[in-house]
Formats: sequence, structure tokens, C-alpha cells
Amino acid sequence: MSETYELSCDCGHVTMTATGTPKVSLYCHCGSCRSLYSVDVLSATGWDDNDVQLPDEARLFVHTMTDKDMTRYGCPQCGMIMYGRHAPGIPVIPHGVFRKANGGKLPAALAPSLHLFYRERVLDVDDDLEKSMGGEALGM
Ligand SMILES: [Zn+2]
Ligand SMILES: [Zn+2]
Repeated sequence: MSETYELSCDCGHVTMTATGTPKVSLYCHCGSCRSLYSVDVLSATGWDDNDVQLPDEARLFVHTMTDKDMTRYGCPQCGMIMYGRHAPGIPVIPHGVFRKANGGKLPAALAPSLHLFYRERVLDVDDDLEKSMGGEALGM
């Protein structure tokens, strides 16, 4: 049986599910992710479109950064960002969304395996994970 993650925004207006194993779980330090999510480092999972049931876009706020071809999707009522879509084109769901659904803990199966675009970092991270200077690890 593969795991199904039932995800929700803070107010419950937006729900979505992810099933099985993400294609990737990582920390992304690239300037685009930092800008799209307004964070110093994006801690997130990337999923195959077939493994997620995304909310109807009519229930979401949708903002595309046209200069970057990146989009973030969130709840129009409570403002929580639920996922993004950007290179390499798959839905990207922040670890924090899973933590909220799991009592504050990141499910062990979703533990990140590497750092991506580490050369663009604004924050040094002293851990044992692979540091990919660019996007080579994902073929980017
Ligand atoms: Zn909400
Ligand atoms: Zn990135």
C-alpha cells in the first residue's frame, strides 16, 4: 500500500492529496525558488502529476511570475501557499505543507536527499547531504 497524504491549507478551504513517493525531496537554493516562495531556501518535494490530486484552480489564488515562468498556488482565504509549478514542470509541494498535516513532523519517507543550486545560496547548510552546485542532479 502506498502512503496517501491528505493536505490542507490553514483554513480548510483548499485540500489536495499526494500518493506514494515523490520524484524528489530536496532543498533548493536557487534564486527563482527563493523569490517565488519568499524563503531563504525552499524545502520541498516534487511529484509526478499522476501521483497528486491538485485542487480545482477555481478554489485557488494563482500567481505566475511571468519573467521566470513560475507559478505559485495557494488559498485565497488564509493565504497559505500549497504548491508551485516550475522547472522541471512538476508540482512542487513544500515540506511545511506535509508537516502541518502530520503534527509538525516531516514524514520519514519524504526526507530530503540533496541540496540543489547550492552555488546560489544565501544560507550555508552544514549537513551530510549532497550539495549539487547547479541543477545537474535533476538534469536541469
Ligand atoms: Zn485556507
Ligand atoms: Zn529552485
